[in-house]
Amino acid sequence: MTEQVNAKVIVIGGGIGGMATALSLQRRGFRVHVYERAKEIREVGAGVVITANARRALRDLGVDEKLEALSSTIDIFHTCHYATGEVLRAVSKEDISRKVGIASLGVYRADLHSVLMEAVLANDPDCLHAQSEFASLTQDATGVTVQFVNGASARADVVVGADGNASAVRSFLFPEEAPKFAGQIAFRSLIPMDLVPDSVRARGSIMSAGPGRYLLSYPLRGGRLMNLIGLVQSGTWEEEGWTTPATKEEFAQAFEGFEPDLLTLIDRIPKGEVFKWGLRDREPLQQWTVGRVTMLGDAAHPMTPFLGQGACMAIEDGLILGRAFASASTITEALQRYEVARKPRGTMVQLASREEGQTLQDPSKKRRTAQDRGLMDYDPVAVPV
Ligand SMILES: Cc1cc2nc3c(=O)[nH]c(=O)nc-3n(C[C@H](O)[C@H](O)[C@H](O)COP(=O)(O)OP(=O)(O)OC[C@H]3O[C@@H](n4cnc5c(N)ncnc54)[C@H](O)[C@@H]3O)c2cc1C
Repeated sequence: MTEQVNAKVIVIGGGIGGMATALSLQRRGFRVHVYERAKEIREVGAGVVITANARRALRDLGVDEKLEALSSTIDIFHTCHYATGEVLRAVSKEDISRKVGIASLGVYRADLHSVLMEAVLANDPDCLHAQSEFASLTQDATGVTVQFVNGASARADVVVGADGNASAVRSFLFPEEAPKFAGQIAFRSLIPMDLVPDSVRARGSIMSAGPGRYLLSYPLRGGRLMNLIGLVQSGTWEEEGWTTPATKEEFAQAFEGFEPDLLTLIDRIPKGEVFKWGLRDREPLQQWTVGRVTMLGDAAHPMTPFLGQGACMAIEDGLILGRAFASASTITEALQRYEVARKPRGTMVQLASREEGQTLQDPSKKRRTAQDRGLMDYDPVAVPV
């Protein structure tokens, strides 16, 4: 155990996966430094659903209760006919709790990020470094040296790439391999609840899948906000990033033919609150680890959002990376234990999300949610590592 007890870990990327990893490692006695390219380490104010599998990890990390108090429990997931609004399927939080033990939360991303970051900073106030964009790395028998775009460098025993979908660490390790446009554009908006039409508010969470298009709405922040996501097939548009401004007119136009109350919801989006981006997809990798460098979250298994599991997977990865370090006798063994425990699940969910994306936008096919696929049964605290 001596090697691990003194192991110093560099995490590249201070998003949800990076923070969960830092916290899991710190709680098991490891020294961690997180390097983030942004000027300020924070998350955008969009929504994310956090399901039982990830909540088990958040409980282990000691932050689930705080997150629950800031979030909205999803009372009933409604699947509705896209054009008429007729409820085709309703799954209540009691159904979910009965089947998987813990309800799903509608979470404001910035709240999830801040509860993780506050816990990380409480353990070590000096471990986060903003304006530190990864450029390259070199590794030898005793450690890894990372070079940053700003000219600085840092050395550690291990490096973890948690730098998201367009990961520079991944491109450095596997230069041949590149993300590709998934043929889908996403729109996102947050709408104050008092602007939401009554029939939409009453249903709470609505998933409407029409030909080539998909709308999802659910409450956040104790029901004060409605999160609205729209996904549309497209052969042409490719830009990525969460912050490209769009207009409610182009959002509405993409969802022409959807039920009138959902179109009213789009019409009521406050000015400046519509963003769009092109979804990226990548083929699963044969390996995630090269020497002393590994990856997690979207860097390791970028997935389209059709099962709502990308952030949940990043949290699971982070928890298990900490567990792997705590139970191994060498760094090589820890990284192996991590990859063996996580790669099959990461790859499976990545491919299932892709398949669900195709199913969802073809009304003749039957959808299989994360719960239908048994993804919420997974317990990252108890699985063998
Ligand atoms: C429309 C949509 C809806 C979604 N809904 C859900 C949902 O309901 N539930 C769910 O679980 N998931 C959902 N997801 C997926 C989820 O958002 C991602 O899977 C999750 O954010 C991945 O976390 P991450 O930490 O791996 O990456 P990110 O959140 O992308 O974080 C990466 C971090 O690395 C930093 N970085 C990047 N490059 C560098 C560099 N070179 N050097 C240093 N730092 C760098 C970035 O600035 C960022 O802070 C959704 C995704 C989309 C697109």
